[in-house]
Amino acid sequence: MKDGLVIAIDGPAGAGKTTISKALAKKLNYTYIDTGALYRGFALKALRDGVDIDDDVRVQKMCDEIDLCFREVGGELRLHLGGIDVSKQIREPVMSMKASDISARPIVRKALLGVQRELGKDGGVIFEGRDIGTVVFPDADLKFYLSASVKERARRRYMDFVGAGKRVDMDALINDISQRDKNDSSRKHAPLKQAKDAIYIDSTEYSIDEVVELMITEVNKKL
Ligand code: C5P
Repeated sequence: MKDGLVIAIDGPAGAGKTTISKALAKKLNYTYIDTGALYRGFALKALRDGVDIDDDVRVQKMCDEIDLCFREVGGELRLHLGGIDVSKQIREPVMSMKASDISARPIVRKALLGVQRELGKDGGVIFEGRDIGTVVFPDADLKFYLSASVKERARRRYMDFVGAGKRVDMDALINDISQRDKNDSSRKHAPLKQAKDAIYIDSTEYSIDEVVELMITEVNKKL
């Protein structure tokens, strides 16, 4: 028996998915699952162990042996690799493209499919990702596809980094986001795309609160 809805929030990098998913989860008292963190965790492991992501045998071995999970710390789920909290390390700017590259590998996607479905089996969850509404939970109760202009998404990422005390170059961010959009939407397996039954929201001109309100309205229609 499911205890609440399964809500999918897909969309490109920097569209506001994380902030909005967290805010929505808080309002609904749902669990928030950041699936990008799982791909980032795989990328970190590959980087640390020097795994060539084009080497299927080594990637498969890594998938079989990896000890990656979410653990609740201070009311939020934090990613642990080999028992150590790596939530900070996976957010380093270099990890974004590494995660995008490794996420195109079918072996990795297959390994993470079961993990994600298990996390959502009881409902009451908000999944943020790229293929949640299309592949992971094609039968999700509610699906949103959140986007914004590349410039606005880069500006938001820039503000995130500045807020975290990091120096980043705006042009480099625009390039990174455009390249990841291209990687994620053109890959063969589970590309980034809007599910047919997803509600499209362009957040360029909206505040976080406005988007959350819009989503709450849709949630209430379902409940
Ligand atoms: O969401 P985030 O930017 O942390 O994701 C990092 C990368 O992981 C994305 O660029 C994408 O390539 C990949 N990803 C994915 N499928 C998901 C979530 C993330 O392919 N469900």
